[in-house]
Amino acid sequence: MLVDMHLHEKTFSTDSFLSLDEIVSIAKAKGLDAVCITDHDSMGLRETAEEYTRRTGFPIFTGIEFFSLQGDITAWGLESYPDHRIPAQDFIDLVNTANGFCVSCHPFRNNNRGLEEKLRDVHGLNGVEVLNGSTDVEANRKALRFCRELGLQAIGASDAHTTQQVGKYVTYLPEMVTTLPDFIAELRTLPTRPAIWNGSGYDVVDEF
Ligand SMILES: [Zn+2]
Repeated sequence: MLVDMHLHEKTFSTDSFLSLDEIVSIAKAKGLDAVCITDHDSMGLRETAEEYTRRTGFPIFTGIEFFSLQGDITAWGLESYPDHRIPAQDFIDLVNTANGFCVSCHPFRNNNRGLEEKLRDVHGLNGVEVLNGSTDVEANRKALRFCRELGLQAIGASDAHTTQQVGKYVTYLPEMVTTLPDFIAELRTLPTRPAIWNGSGYDVVDEF
């Protein structure tokens, strides 16, 4: 299945122009099987997204993009989350205690919000965004090198804030799942691969 694992919806991400309806309709048009909502330091959309999924049958997995003291980390599986910035390692520990899944997003993007080389210092990360839609190709390639070195899951995600960005990069998972617990279980156990929108479909890639 193909999932865009990093999207911002405008209700709780004030820098986003995207409504949930727009996200889902673009995702469906591009052939995606699910999307993730990862708002900045908020899981406020979770109930709305769950209700939307019940009504439409389209899976929406609500996570969070948490701005730790060392950089942004996307995570799934938390019931609650800190209301202030805490060290990356402490946040990662929270996610693993909850049997969740966490990803260093855009680790080398030039906005001072990635973990950068601190990727090597933290323990318990599950994945790295090797293709982030708002990051240049060299920074994404560096993320891929670190991901390989550390043996973590390779994640692709648009990080979309506008309609044009939705689904630019996504993640391929070998098995189809529809619930958040199954999604997390699969992410923790089966290999993922990034995929790139080519204008009419997706290329699942190991290099780029
Ligand atoms: Zn983001």
